[in-house]
Amino acid sequence: MPDVVVIGGGIAGISAAAFLSGRADVALVEAEAQMAYHTTGRSAALFYENYGSAASRPLTAASKSFLTSSPDGLIDAPLTTPRGGLRIGRTDQIEALRQTVREAVASGSRQEWIDPEEVERLCPAIRIEELAGGVWEPDTADLDVAALHQTFVRMSRRNQASISISSAVTNIERRSNGWRIFHGQDHTDADTIVNAAGAWGDVVAELANIQPIGLESRRRTVFMVPGRQENSGWPMIIDANLDFYFKPDGHQILCSPAEEVPSEPCDAQPRELDIAVAIDRINTATTLGIRTVTSSWTGLRTFAPDEDPVHGFEPEADGFFWLVGQGGTGIQTSPAAGALTAALILDGKISTELAEHGINPETLSPARFR
Ligand SMILES: Cc1cc2nc3c(=O)[nH]c(=O)nc-3n(C[C@H](O)[C@H](O)[C@H](O)COP(=O)(O)OP(=O)(O)OC[C@H]3O[C@@H](n4cnc5c(N)ncnc54)[C@H](O)[C@@H]3O)c2cc1C
Repeated sequence: MPDVVVIGGGIAGISAAAFLSGRADVALVEAEAQMAYHTTGRSAALFYENYGSAASRPLTAASKSFLTSSPDGLIDAPLTTPRGGLRIGRTDQIEALRQTVREAVASGSRQEWIDPEEVERLCPAIRIEELAGGVWEPDTADLDVAALHQTFVRMSRRNQASISISSAVTNIERRSNGWRIFHGQDHTDADTIVNAAGAWGDVVAELANIQPIGLESRRRTVFMVPGRQENSGWPMIIDANLDFYFKPDGHQILCSPAEEVPSEPCDAQPRELDIAVAIDRINTATTLGIRTVTSSWTGLRTFAPDEDPVHGFEPEADGFFWLVGQGGTGIQTSPAAGALTAALILDGKISTELAEHGINPETLSPARFR
């Protein structure tokens, strides 16, 4: 009998399986025929320290060394590539830029206020006439999400974890000595469940007769437009009010309206209006003159009511661990979130290393909603 069943094969579930698997029997079950089909496969693939809720930031900081290394024997290329992030703001957005600086200082990430001419040097497409300046964050980097996910798959498989795809969990029974999880045509018994079902986190809890947290999923659309290979070194450009962002991706440019529209858990699809709004905003702020969209997708970012992650044991049911509510930072926090999950389940406390980054299990625990 496995010690732990992990529900969900996105970055959260597979990172938990990876860190648990050396020390526990782990079975991961994923509803889709492909892991990472939902939000994990639809991100902007960025490591951005000055981003996310207060309780998520220490998880990002604690994940940095894993993400900037090439985990031994698992992957032969770096998981991150330097890019740099640049928040830009017009004179009427100067307070939002100042807030960016304050948040960077508070989270200990490097930043520098730069004038419009320096903004233009870093990204000549930006119109600087009405620009107050920019906040340059040099440590922002591109993440290879597929390689990171695959790293966790290899860690799990190396430790004999079992991974079942096309195996949706349809019912969960509490038994005297643990849980019975019904998935696909099968069932599996376990001491502990890790609920890493992303947008479906509350749905999975209800299958186990556990009170939902009140998770809210919000749409976010990304689309690709033609760019130029010679501009592939531009930084990630983010509007001060987060009304849009864009960054080069090889010979294309990845763009987003950064919308936050609530949605039911589903296979979210792009809407033409959201893309049109983003094109208008980006064409106003730059000389890119976007006319063509080559591809687009939409993912659901899922938040708890206080927008902090929910990583911890359910106080009202033994052996039910929540690993949800990652919002917009679930990729960049995944190494620390996986390590934290393994530590809390197997040791009952977090490691000194995680604690040194300021991670406090109480601020992440679902007990705050009970
Ligand atoms: C446009 C966009 C840009 C983003 N950019 C970034 C970024 O730059 N950096 C960053 O760190 N984060 C980013 N994020 C956020 C990040 O993608 C998410 O926080 C992260 O992917 C969440 O991972 P997850 O494993 O919780 O969810 P998911 O990847 O959605 O995985 C949940 C899995 O659970 C499965 N599941 C659900 N119900 C069941 C069931 N009953 N039985 C079995 N399986 C089930 C689903 O099929 C799914 O595969 C972005 C998100 C979006 C949408």
